[in-house]
Amino acid sequence: MSYLAKNYKRKKISFKHGKGSYLFSTDGKKYLDMVSGIAVNSLGHAHPKLVKTIRYQSNKLWHVSNAFQIPEGEKLAKKLCKKTFADYVIFQNSGAEATEAAIKVARRYFYSIGKPNKTRILCIKNSFHGRTLATIFASGSKKMTEGFGHVGGFDHFTFGDHESLKRKITKNTAAIMVETIMGEGGIKVIPDWCLKELRKLCDKKKILLILDEVQCGISRSGDFFAFEKSKVKPDIVPIAKGIGGGFPIGAVLMNKKVAVGMIPGTHGSTFGGNPLAMAIGNTVMDIVSTKKFLDQVKKSSKYFFSNLNKLKEKYPNIIKDIRGRGLLIGIQLHTDQTNFIKKLMHNRLLTIRAAENVVRILPPLNVKKNEIDTAIKIIEKVCSQIK
Ligand SMILES: *Cc1c(COP(=O)(O)O)cnc(C)c1O
Repeated sequence: MSYLAKNYKRKKISFKHGKGSYLFSTDGKKYLDMVSGIAVNSLGHAHPKLVKTIRYQSNKLWHVSNAFQIPEGEKLAKKLCKKTFADYVIFQNSGAEATEAAIKVARRYFYSIGKPNKTRILCIKNSFHGRTLATIFASGSKKMTEGFGHVGGFDHFTFGDHESLKRKITKNTAAIMVETIMGEGGIKVIPDWCLKELRKLCDKKKILLILDEVQCGISRSGDFFAFEKSKVKPDIVPIAKGIGGGFPIGAVLMNKKVAVGMIPGTHGSTFGGNPLAMAIGNTVMDIVSTKKFLDQVKKSSKYFFSNLNKLKEKYPNIIKDIRGRGLLIGIQLHTDQTNFIKKLMHNRLLTIRAAENVVRILPPLNVKKNEIDTAIKIIEKVCSQIK
């Protein structure tokens, strides 16, 4: 009997330890892990540099209040700003906290310039921005909000429906918030031309653009941020998942225009930006943000996609589409993916579902070519079994 509440439908498997792209179960089996804790273990399991960092910092200092200066956080914030569009950072502990903070930053900006009624956030229906009360209503999914009352302030448009998007902008709209690549929603990429149009639309309507890169950011797409290729500059970007490499870290990045609203007392977090988390974030950042690392992600991605597309051609009755970018990959099936994922797992490959019958593949960003080969072989085997 488990004393954990039943809010997860867990698979009957647990792990003892992990190394690189592999997880070792308590019953002695070795699994190729292409879930990576849902895009979290960006450098795989037990990466030597992360282990070293956590050992070093845990001997020095874990936590101090944000009432004091935290040099490790200053350092990470500087790295994030130098690397991206951002001028300022607020650290949090999770993705949902980061997206909530993004919403607060947007509303507070308009408040601070004398437009307190501009509070509404326009989001994509059935997107995913986290599980706090506000962010479930931002996500606009019935499944997530059912039974949780109501939190107002969010409007929704349908993915790809540009007319409804324009129609839904009112005088009280503060921002449009979208995932650059929808993760939970089925690995749906917003094309670069759309991002450009979004930016133009926001400029025209004098509203803010929030790009949620909690899942697709931190080099997952092959660029540090998934929007970089489009040359678009958002105003606010929440991040989390990959930046901690397995340690809980969230953050909201913003430009200096919108940062004016965030004066002392407007936002805070007891744990956010603690020295231990920041030390780890710095190490992850130093590794994953280099051009060499990103080139390798792009190379792995190209290899993965070309092989998956071959499988799609070979098994057109099973595979409907190969989606995604970088190492955020979706195999869309024609029918429900549950059985497919189970069969992959029986063959020692771990993957996870996303909406629209998608089998989501999220290898560590430093995945090796032979590990991709292994994954492809297993996926092919399962396709042939189903056929
Ligand atoms: C996972 C996710 C979140 C929420 O992150 P948590 O750490 O689970 O709170 C928010 N936005 C996107 C796009 C995500 O994928």
